[in-house]
Amino acid sequence: PAAGPGGHLAGHIRDVVDHPRPGVTFKDITPLLADPGAFADTVDILSAMCTRLGATRIAGLEARGFLLAAPVALRCGAGCVPVRKAGKLPGETFSRAYELEYGTATLEIQRDAFRPEDRVVVVDDVLATGGTAEAAIELVHSTGARVTGVVVLMELTFLPGRERLERLVKSDCVQAA
Ligand code: AMP
Repeated sequence: PAAGPGGHLAGHIRDVVDHPRPGVTFKDITPLLADPGAFADTVDILSAMCTRLGATRIAGLEARGFLLAAPVALRCGAGCVPVRKAGKLPGETFSRAYELEYGTATLEIQRDAFRPEDRVVVVDDVLATGGTAEAAIELVHSTGARVTGVVVLMELTFLPGRERLERLVKSDCVQAA
C-alpha cells in the first residue's frame, strides 16, 4: 500500500531485509494480520475492489493469498477457490509451471472449480514480477472461466508485474490496496 485507499496500512507491513535470500526485501504481512482493525480495513478495501470488478469467485493463491481471499470472498458474497502448489488438490486438476527467480514452480486448480458464467478475481498479498498471477490467470482460463481482475494488497512498482499481466487482463483491472 502506498498512494491507494490502503495507504494507512503500510505501517502494518514489515520489511524483512535479505529474506528468504540475500538481496530480497520480504514484505511481511503478519503484523497486519495480527491487528484486527488493520486486517478488517484490508478486507474492506480489497472486497470493494473485487465487488467493483464483478467477482462471483475469488481465486486465492497459496499460501498468503488464502488468508486474504477467504474473508474477501465472504464479504463479496462470492465463492472462494484455492489455487495451490502441485500435488495438493484432490481430483482432476489443470497444472501450470512458471518461472521463479531460481527454477520453476507449478500451480494447480480443480477442473470443475468454476461455472462458465463466473467472473473470477485473483487475490494475493504481493504482486512482484507477475509470474505467479500470470500462471493463476492462465489456469482459470483453462477451466473456461473469465478473469475480470487481479487484486493484491501490495504491488512492487519497481518490477514490471502489471505490464506482464496486461496481455491477460486490462491494466485498470490490476488493483493494489
Ligand atoms: P511474483 O510471481 O514475482 O509476482 O511473486 C509473487 C508471489 O511471490 C506472491 O505469491 C508473493 O506472496 C510472493 N512474493 C514475491 N515477492 C515478495 C516479497 N518481496 N515479499 C513478500 N512476498 C513476495
